Amino acid sequence: MLYDRELHEECGVFGVFNLANASELTYYGLHALQHRGQEGAGIVVSDGEKLNSVKNEGSVRFVFPESVLKKLQGNMAIGHVRYSTTGGGGILNVQPFLFRHGEGDFALCHNGNIVNSKELRRNLEMKGSIFQSSSDSEILAHLIKKDYRSTRLDALKEALIYLEGAFAFLVLTKDKLYAMRDRHGLRPLSIGKLDNGYVVTSETCALDAVGATFVRDIEPGEIVIIDNNGIYSDFYSRDTEDKICAMEYIYFSRPDSDLLGLNVHRSRKECGRILAREAAVEADIVIGVPDSSLSAASGYAEASKIPYEMGLIKNRYIGRTFIEPSQALREKGVKMKLSPVRSVIAGKRVILIDDSIVRGTTSKKIVEMLRQMGAAEIHMRIASPQIISPCFYGVDTSTYEELISAFHSVEEVRQLIGADSLAFLSMDGLKEALGNRDFCHACFTKHYPTHLYDLIENANKDGKF
Ligand code: AMP
Ligand code: SF4
Repeated sequence: MLYDRELHEECGVFGVFNLANASELTYYGLHALQHRGQEGAGIVVSDGEKLNSVKNEGSVRFVFPESVLKKLQGNMAIGHVRYSTTGGGGILNVQPFLFRHGEGDFALCHNGNIVNSKELRRNLEMKGSIFQSSSDSEILAHLIKKDYRSTRLDALKEALIYLEGAFAFLVLTKDKLYAMRDRHGLRPLSIGKLDNGYVVTSETCALDAVGATFVRDIEPGEIVIIDNNGIYSDFYSRDTEDKICAMEYIYFSRPDSDLLGLNVHRSRKECGRILAREAAVEADIVIGVPDSSLSAASGYAEASKIPYEMGLIKNRYIGRTFIEPSQALREKGVKMKLSPVRSVIAGKRVILIDDSIVRGTTSKKIVEMLRQMGAAEIHMRIASPQIISPCFYGVDTSTYEELISAFHSVEEVRQLIGADSLAFLSMDGLKEALGNRDFCHACFTKHYPTHLYDLIENANKDGKF
């Protein structure tokens, strides 16, 4: 169930057209997107005649030893790394999904979350559809009602109109690759060129990983079709807007990725700079929580002229804290994952930068550790506004009840985490850092870009939403 989840990241998709060793390239692409999900990975490859699939639970390296990868021969492929959002875990929900169809087999994979999936699923099941998984991504396959008069593209366009929410979809047939983004542009998807072929990816860092050059971002409501005649574009909807997810910049994406032309590291650094302007405080050092907050910390330090220090070290061999199942284990996990550098911290007035506070677990634990190391003062600065509302678009920002800022003022949060002072970046500051573009900020403002069906009511059981 959507609201019984732990804090997880979202998914990543990667596609290849007309390149030898497509599955190997996809493997490297998925490696570069591994931060977007480590729960499951899959690749479907086409040799021009038939589609073959390998997928399993676990990280890319675990699912694809060389011997397995070698079996996936062909020059077209799509791949997926996943953490469960809608639908829960289990091998049946690992993507891409492969469908054997009278009109030709096809495979699909998806990043995001369909907010009307329950309604669509119910309707489809009433009309006789049988689902292989509980994932909302499979709905698109059932919606593609290809009759003998329509082309696959027409069938896709018709199907996509029904979907509301966030998605970056890749669809592979034996000789075509389709890539599409939701009409609000919530999830990123970019195209790259390599030799005589094309690559499509959730993040541009995966283009660099396979040596492809960036061509352009896919637009909201757009379907890009790549086949032996080349690459062309169509729109399933013209009722579009650019509402890319702010959390892609703040937390999810890799710092070396560019989203809609704006580099993630630079945008985080800008958040830090603006935060220094908005929430200055006297201190001796600035430190960041590795890794996602280091860019913001360097921006804060530069703007405030307070030295940046490496005050926290991350153990890279421990999984991310949020895969721990219980609060108690999570707290233990934070301790194992991060170690303060005593000689840097002791006796110092510390400005501690994190990119966000969700439940407050991480901040509380780090403040406690810094005190144990003898920090004289701890001033917590958060490089994003307060998260006051859940995400319904595939980013797991936890349940409403768990969001510390949904129920507490800044001062109350400060007391709960035990810092000497606490400040968040303002919404205006975030807008400025993202170049005053339009973006989704619903988890900070409750202004959701789509209709939410009964999701709000489910989240609103206590009537406070
Ligand atoms: P919390 O301890 O629950 O307050 O989580 C905050 C920490 O988790 C911060 O250090 C963030 O870098 C990180 N974070 C923020 N958003 C997410 C997310 N959706 N999934 C996992 N971690 C996140
Ligand atoms: Fe991103 Fe927040 Fe919008 Fe979800 S609600 S898409 S996390 S900005």
